[in-house]
Amino acid sequence: TYIIAEPCVDVLDRACVEECPVDCIYEGGRMLYIQPDECVDCGACEPVCPVEAIFYEDDVPDEWEPYVSANVDFFNEL
Ligand code: SF4
Repeated sequence: TYIIAEPCVDVLDRACVEECPVDCIYEGGRMLYIQPDECVDCGACEPVCPVEAIFYEDDVPDEWEPYVSANVDFFNEL
């Protein structure tokens, strides 16, 4: 799955939402989140993010690693 990290906080540009072919990017408070079970790893969202907040899960920079679990937790808590 792809992950949205800190640069999205309080930005929520939503360009990614328009690109996602399976509509798996959801708004949650101060940022957007990708539903990991619905994401088909197409990568379409990544290049359109103006603040480069989107990464493939294995490529998330170390300082934003907590966003990987935060993304999963977001949907578990719904
Ligand atoms: Fe949607 Fe593709 Fe991005 Fe996954 S990688 S969130 S399916 S646009």
